[in-house]
Amino acid sequence: MNNKLTQKIFGSVLVFLMAPVLINAERGGGRKIVVFSGALNEQAKDELISKHGGVKFKDLSLVNGSAVWLPDKASEKAIEEHPGVLRIDDDVEVFALASGKNNNEATILAQTLPWGIDRIDAELVWPSGNTADLIKIGIIDTGISKDHSDLTANIKGGINTINPAKSWNDDNGHGSHVAGIVAALNNTIGVIGTGPAVDLYAIKVLNRNGSGFLSDIIEGIQWASANNIKIANMSLGTTSNVQSFHDAIITAYNNGMVMVAAAGNNGGAVNFPAAYPEVIAVSATDINNNIASFSSRGPEVDLAAPGVSILSTYKGNNYATLSGTSMASPHVAGTAALVISAPVGTYDANFNGQWDPAEVKQKLQDTAVDLGTTGFDNLFGWGLVNAFAAVQ
Ligand code: CA
Ligand code: CA
Repeated sequence: MNNKLTQKIFGSVLVFLMAPVLINAERGGGRKIVVFSGALNEQAKDELISKHGGVKFKDLSLVNGSAVWLPDKASEKAIEEHPGVLRIDDDVEVFALASGKNNNEATILAQTLPWGIDRIDAELVWPSGNTADLIKIGIIDTGISKDHSDLTANIKGGINTINPAKSWNDDNGHGSHVAGIVAALNNTIGVIGTGPAVDLYAIKVLNRNGSGFLSDIIEGIQWASANNIKIANMSLGTTSNVQSFHDAIITAYNNGMVMVAAAGNNGGAVNFPAAYPEVIAVSATDINNNIASFSSRGPEVDLAAPGVSILSTYKGNNYATLSGTSMASPHVAGTAALVISAPVGTYDANFNGQWDPAEVKQKLQDTAVDLGTTGFDNLFGWGLVNAFAAVQ
């Protein structure tokens, strides 16, 4: 048996041995987010965690917290009872929101306009010179394929919050697909994105299986906020409502970041973070403007966008057709970039001369194409996003 194979086998064994410990509710502990009150300095926080057998693996300054490993319920209780601690949240799992993957990964020789980009009339915006050039969009996802010929010129940077020593390159495909819907290049090959000159930032928070932990996502939002990312697309979600997640979103929102998220793919209630009021929640439609059966629904849905059989860029230098609210969200994020590239005009509710998140959301809602029941409804929100109307 060679070394690589030995490693592989031992790696798998380790995962299986550790899993029961992680999910053992009786034993408690595991991955947690400890949120502090502000009374403790950094050293005191770290000492408190280690004193009770915990190990810190991440600073989450955005929520005044630390991501930690705790050995058991007793250590959790001891830390929670300290006056300098506000609360301990679960570091829940969060998932990429694509379903019905088509395995037909292909290369495309002649550039084609995907039906979703056509449907939202993005291609009617570009001739005016608005291609969302220089607008920074963070793709909080599985990474972005760094060598993709239809993306690479638009990728300006990134981070891997799962392992900061490693690349943000996409090892799943989902993040590259989302990135292509936002900003695939207008060249002679492949597809075109909603804002073909957007500055893309690859914020890798999900692993090769398309799942990740909340602490990695909060760190991704933290990085985006610190790097003045104007728009964040989150084609991911969880059914768990965790206070730290909402706190991170609120802080980023107050810093001026426009956040767009996939509503969810379980056909039920809207997932988090989409369900938070500071986030633009997007449901998915098909080529006939019907709601996708898998699309989550409810009063938190803000807008609808194409999300069934969407062709876009994929990992490596490939293309793939995917379905999911994951695909709907980036149509809206890209449209938000086109909106921000146009003058704020009468939408400048707080008279600061720039687009703030609530103003962008208002413009997108006012200019959406109403579908379903007249006016707002739980399936389509305010309607199907329309880029051309949104930039007028
Ligand atoms: Ca292209
Ligand atoms: Ca404003």
